[in-house]
Amino acid sequence: MGCTTQDVIAALRAGAAVVAEHRDELIQLDREIGDADHGENMDRGFRAVAAKMDTTDPETPGAALKLAATVLISTVGGASGPLYGTAFLRAAAAVGDETELDAAGVAKALQAGMEGVVARGRAEVGDKTMIDALSPAVEAAKNAAESGADGTKVLAAAAEAAHQGVRSTEQLVARKGRASYLGERSAGHIDPGARSTALLLSAFAEAAGA
Ligand code: ADP
Ligand code: MG
Ligand code: MG
Repeated sequence: MGCTTQDVIAALRAGAAVVAEHRDELIQLDREIGDADHGENMDRGFRAVAAKMDTTDPETPGAALKLAATVLISTVGGASGPLYGTAFLRAAAAVGDETELDAAGVAKALQAGMEGVVARGRAEVGDKTMIDALSPAVEAAKNAAESGADGTKVLAAAAEAAHQGVRSTEQLVARKGRASYLGERSAGHIDPGARSTALLLSAFAEAAGA
């Protein structure tokens, strides 16, 4: 069975829950190399996404993702708001009006999301941003889908790779975003946006039954 609209909504709600749970941690990570608002920004945004799902009834996975995108763009703010918003918007566009996403569809949505972040933020792997979590996640998702994994396993593979990517950010010197103002002093800290990306992917995988 594929990933239905209700599955996508459940995943978004799980995302809101994990962000709320890790709000303080994300604030602390951003305090070390940024302006200490990433946890607040993400919690505000995903709380609004969950609230939107209570009052609307999107008819397709793409419609749910698009709704999330518009809410994130208007509520998260900072650098991460437009970036996450664009990711969800591109993911929505990639799945079009399909009513259920299979494994390839899930991988395709993740890839499109990452491409949106790159188009908007111009970060590359190694710049110490959410791309350091997203890029390995997309690669792992693609490999899993190609080797016959179902959508849940695709998300689980993506999440695992993303968490490894998060660890890789610790040693990096930031070249994008606020943390780049610190230059060499940004090394030795985990990137908050990479961490939130990995947390979201874990929540999506768990919501899907991983
Ligand atoms: P702000 O830095 O404006 O306060 P947030 O704290 O919410 O916004 O988000 C910071 C995160 O955004 C960083 O940890 C990083 O992962 C991500 N980020 C910043 N700039 C870029 C970029 N150009 N491309 C990709 N991700 C970025
Ligand atoms: Mg910040
Ligand atoms: Mg800020």
